[in-house]
Amino acid sequence: MDSFVYQAQAARVLFGAGTGARLGEEAQRLGLTRVLVLCTPGRTELAERAAQWLGSRAVGVFDGATMHTPVAVTERALAAVKSLGADGVVSIGGGSTTGLGKAIALRTDLPQIAMPTTYAGSEMTPILGETRDGVKTTQRTAKVLPEVVIYDVELTRSLPVPLSALSAFNAIAHAVEALYAPDTNPIVSLMAQEGVRSIVKALGRIAATPHDLGVRADLLYGAWLCSCCLGATTMGLHHKLCHTLGGLFDLPHAETHTIVLPYVLEFNARTVPDAVARLARAMETDDPVRALIDLERSLHVPMALRDVGMPNDGIARAVAQATANPYANPREVDAGALTELVERAWRGAGARAH
Ligand code: NAD
Repeated sequence: MDSFVYQAQAARVLFGAGTGARLGEEAQRLGLTRVLVLCTPGRTELAERAAQWLGSRAVGVFDGATMHTPVAVTERALAAVKSLGADGVVSIGGGSTTGLGKAIALRTDLPQIAMPTTYAGSEMTPILGETRDGVKTTQRTAKVLPEVVIYDVELTRSLPVPLSALSAFNAIAHAVEALYAPDTNPIVSLMAQEGVRSIVKALGRIAATPHDLGVRADLLYGAWLCSCCLGATTMGLHHKLCHTLGGLFDLPHAETHTIVLPYVLEFNARTVPDAVARLARAMETDDPVRALIDLERSLHVPMALRDVGMPNDGIARAVAQATANPYANPREVDAGALTELVERAWRGAGARAH
């Protein structure tokens, strides 16, 4: 075995159906007495549940969290933190809400409790992406890591099947790239393989039994592991390309990850046989690319970039931007090969015949 470095992220994790009810206890452990609850605009019912669990420790709800963490929204939330005298935040929701909690922690050092209700996986990473004047910048700092993460499976039952599927493919993408990251290691590989196994198993059952707690637990458990993978490694072509496409054409986050992943995996596959072998075991297949595409198709998610708003004449711009700066990827990425990849993803070409 090669030598390696594994950087664990210090977070206390509570997992399971009904763990949300322990939110008050966890706030008390952190010494919090004035907690602001964060959520996205449509999710005030989740925030109200969190406020109930906090009891007298809740001082208010800020329901303005938005995708890509715009700094203007963070500034409004910071004003609420100040006027309410909050000494901690609870972010209940998907990656948009977790992002806002992180942006507040970056500026105030206030403790955060994250309660993820999607599978996007921001909660276990020291990564924060923020948008100012339409430009998204990403930084890594331990300051943004939530102190406590409560994965209450019950809270994910209301996530509609299409959103659940898209979010789960977003999680799988973290594991795939962690398996071939330059800083991968045996611990990350274990988490990645188990994360994909758990998610893929659940995705086969989600459409028929979307409210089943076992299915939801498998998805959330897998998403936690995939989030750990994202936090512990350096991502490659897939994440770089999705970031570029999202920024250039304002494409939806989880959809973009879902569409692009099979094409990047296919592009890298021959260079990373060990990663492919692990994915094959996790998905119980001999062809992970085809299995991924078949699974996506069975869940009726968008399969082509043209279907989520990317213009055809945007391909050259995307390739130019994605190849402008060097980044980690196991196979060298040149403009010609990347153009072909993006064209295939734009059309939704499907897997190549082998
Ligand atoms: P999101 O948080 O915007 O949630 C998507 C939609 O699902 C929203 O409308 C939300 O209100 C709704 N929703 C959430 N939970 C629900 C529930 N239980 N029931 C019903 N509806 C529910 O999107 P996301 O995909 O979770 O996160 C995407 C964002 O997270 C992006 O901004 C992305 O950049 C960021 N992200 C960051 C990291 C990181 O490490 N920094 C990692 C992954 C994603």
